[in-house]
Amino acid sequence: MMRLRDSIFGALFLVSFCCMPVSAQSKFTVGTASAAPGEKSAGALEVPAGVDASTSIPIVVVNGAKPGKVLALVSGAHGTEYVSIIAIEKLIAALDPAQVTGTVILVPLINIQSFEQKVPHVNPVDNKSMNRFYPGKADGTQTERASYLITKEIVDRCDYLIDYHGGDLDESLRPYAYWGPTGREAQDRTSKEMVLAFGLDHIIIWRERPTDPAATRYLDNTASIRGKPSIVVEAGHAGTVESDDVALLVNGTLSTMRALRMLPGEPHTIENPVWIEKLVDVLAEGPGIWYPLVKRGAYVSAGMKLGTITDYVGKVIAEPRAPVSGIVLHVNAVPSLKKGDNIADLGVPAAHAP
Ligand SMILES: [Zn+2]
Repeated sequence: MMRLRDSIFGALFLVSFCCMPVSAQSKFTVGTASAAPGEKSAGALEVPAGVDASTSIPIVVVNGAKPGKVLALVSGAHGTEYVSIIAIEKLIAALDPAQVTGTVILVPLINIQSFEQKVPHVNPVDNKSMNRFYPGKADGTQTERASYLITKEIVDRCDYLIDYHGGDLDESLRPYAYWGPTGREAQDRTSKEMVLAFGLDHIIIWRERPTDPAATRYLDNTASIRGKPSIVVEAGHAGTVESDDVALLVNGTLSTMRALRMLPGEPHTIENPVWIEKLVDVLAEGPGIWYPLVKRGAYVSAGMKLGTITDYVGKVIAEPRAPVSGIVLHVNAVPSLKKGDNIADLGVPAAHAP
């Protein structure tokens, strides 16, 4: 996969090097990626060393032939949520600046150490989730310094943002999106149009989020609080890269760009998604071996047994049950469980569309 990434980047460098020179003012630059109108350029956002090591986050700028808004597509905060990363790789290759109105900033992989070392959930350099420390700190650990630069160089300069995730190595997840209304009517109308155009058929309404701009925690929330319509999309599960899952994210992005008038054509807006108004986590009370009875996407009713947990010599020690009726958005994909692990996440459908 690294070889594929390198070859795509190599090809893009050639494209950007051979294009006609255009005046410096019209270039759009993020880190070392700098593209004039009609160009695609690859580079990196260099996060300097601080209390721990430096890192270099790959960036592609697609500067459309026609001027317009700036859309940021950001993936790989969790470097083993592979479908979300591969989808951005596909979009890097697919987006043709001649067709694009406005500018697209693509970030395929924030958390390189997670990807290379195959460590789920966190950045192994500082053991922090790379989607919990926004807006970041210039003098913090690597995750915080990266978050700080992403806020400054990408969030502050975009008009819209999509954050890509999926089931991690240990999560069997069904695809869904998050829509986080802010109470600002025009912004919420646009973000809702984006999430419906993306087309994932389950949408979580995410109302209770941090409102302090200095402690926004999540990337999309950081953009939302700064007035930029943004959504989160999730597809893929447990280390797999299935083409159907990749297609959901690639086609959803292209459709959202059509809804935003950044690409020609009509979006494939979904008419009646399942809106989810509440998430309920089922957590492990202690360590053990997990034997699931339900699959991702199953509908369960309150009280149903979700699986069995045994100790290491086969004695049943717990039989977690669904605390509510709802949809299994994800269920633990591997036998390993430690205290506090997420066994399953249930989504409760909303009575009415928002
Ligand atoms: Zn994630």
